[in-house]
Order: sequence, then C-alpha cells, then structure tokens
Amino acid sequence: MNVILIGAPGSGKGTQSRYLMDKHNFIQLSTGDLLRAAIAAKTAVGLEAKGLMDQGKLVPDDVMIKLVDSYVEQNKGKSIIFDGFPRTVAQAENLELVLKKNSSAIGKVIYFRINPKLLVKRLTGRRTCVKCGEIYHIDSKPSSKGDICEKCGGELKQRPDDRKEVIGERLDQFSKNTGPTIDYYIKKNMLAEVDCEKDPELILKDIEKILGLSN
Ligand code: ATP
Ligand code: MG
Repeated sequence: MNVILIGAPGSGKGTQSRYLMDKHNFIQLSTGDLLRAAIAAKTAVGLEAKGLMDQGKLVPDDVMIKLVDSYVEQNKGKSIIFDGFPRTVAQAENLELVLKKNSSAIGKVIYFRINPKLLVKRLTGRRTCVKCGEIYHIDSKPSSKGDICEKCGGELKQRPDDRKEVIGERLDQFSKNTGPTIDYYIKKNMLAEVDCEKDPELILKDIEKILGLSN
C-alpha cells in the first residue's frame, strides 16, 4: 500500500516515516532527502534545487515529477511512503498518473495536524545526521554524544533551511501550495488526520490504526 504523509515543515513526517520503515514493510521517498543527495552529488538537479531550497522556495513541479516518476519506476511493487510529495495540486494530479502507469495507486493520505506556533521551535532546534539522516532536537531529543550521531557516529548539523530567516518562507509556501493540495484530497475523500502535538510513539499508533496495521 502506498501512503502519502502531508503536513507542514517540522510536523514530524520524517520521524514517522522512519518508524514505519523500521517496523513495517515500507520504503520512504523523501523528496527533500532526494534533493539534498542531489546537491551533495552536484548533479544538474542538485545545482538547480540548492538556491531555491536554501531560500525556502519550492523546486519546480516538472523537476519534482520527473524525480518521483523514476523513483516509482525503479521501485515497482514496493509499498512507498511519500514524505514531502505531493506539495502542489499539479504534483498530486501527476502522482496519480505516475502510479497508474505502474499499475499502482494511493492507499491513504495522512495529514499531520499541528499548531503552526510550535513549528518554529521544532525546526530551529532540529539537528540532522549528515551521514544517516537520523533526526535530533537540541531540547526534546538531544544526542547523548553531543554533535555526534548516536546511531552511526556521523556529524549532526543544522539544515540550511532550518535557520530562522528561512522558516517563514517555508511556512508561506506550505499554506499557499500545500493547503490547496490538502483540500484536493479532502474533496476526493482520501484524507485521514493525525494530531502531531503528541509523543511520536502515540502518533505512530494513530497512523498504524489508520493504515490497519495495529496489532
Ligand atoms: P520537514 O523535513 O521538516 O518535514 P520540509 O517538508 O519542508 O520539512 P523537506 O521535505 O526536506 O522539508 O524539503 C526541503 C525543501 O526541498 C523544500 O523547502 C523544497 O525547497 C524542496 N522540496 C522537497 N520536496 C518538494 C516538492 N515535492 N516540491 C517542491 N519542492 C520540494
Ligand atoms: Mg522531512
């Protein structure tokens, strides 16, 4: 079953994707992670994306759709968690076509509901392992090894777009583009909602219930 996680930056999509992958049979397509890998590898897509991402803007739909198309093609038959895609109505419409082409479909769309006031603190305090992508927070989930990842020994860094100056633009993009995407799935009767102000373990339980994965 394919699942879309949709929610504001910092709402916890990445954390829940990791839980779902560890515990259930999913693979994660985080378009943000894919773009950061492209930047690190200095590909043409990475070079185009870097300036936009660092300013909190969206990468153009055609670039994103092409990336997702080839990912889906390469992972035929697997259950994919879409984390951070679609973010616009055009991306949502195209995702349906891409999945159909691969004899697949969307199972559920899960909206991560959270008070926007909480997001700035979550994002500015977030630190990410440059090596394995593990997510920490300086207050709520610090690494016991300081600036080093507990899991893999990689270095923990702040993402350039998690700086205070950029977060406002990311939140604007979310309400401008992703708000209508959420409405699109409401109209199609595909949207389920989770309250993302709780503990991550409790949010996972709610998601498992929605997906029929509870035991
Ligand atoms: P968080 O990681 O906290 O969930 P986020 O969802 O904003 O926050 P990413 O998904 O990592 O973060 O995305 C980071 C940036 O990558 C975005 O601000 C945007 O520039 C670009 N990006 C990622 N996915 C898309 C997409 N589907 N369409 C356009 N741009 C995207
Ligand atoms: Mg993320």
